[in-house]
Amino acid sequence: MKYLLLLLVVMGLVFLSGVRKGRARSAQPPGSGPETKPPARATEAQASMMVACAECGTHLPEPEAYPGRGGHFCSAEHRQRHEARQGHG
Ligand SMILES: [Zn+2]
Repeated sequence: MKYLLLLLVVMGLVFLSGVRKGRARSAQPPGSGPETKPPARATEAQASMMVACAECGTHLPEPEAYPGRGGHFCSAEHRQRHEARQGHG
């Protein structure tokens, strides 16, 4: 009858180790899983990249602005006007 008790203890240990293995597998260690980037990054960058037209002062997102020598502009027309004025002095 002693062996029966021993068998129960061994079975219990095996069961416990199996549970631990299962837990370790389900819990992913930090840094080794697939790369997950925050989705709100692009919109945040867009919101912070507001520029003002150097000609009329209109604020607009940087990707929509017209880059020029004197800064950013709301339209190609304003950029031309501004650069023409700078060229004249
Ligand atoms: Zn403008």
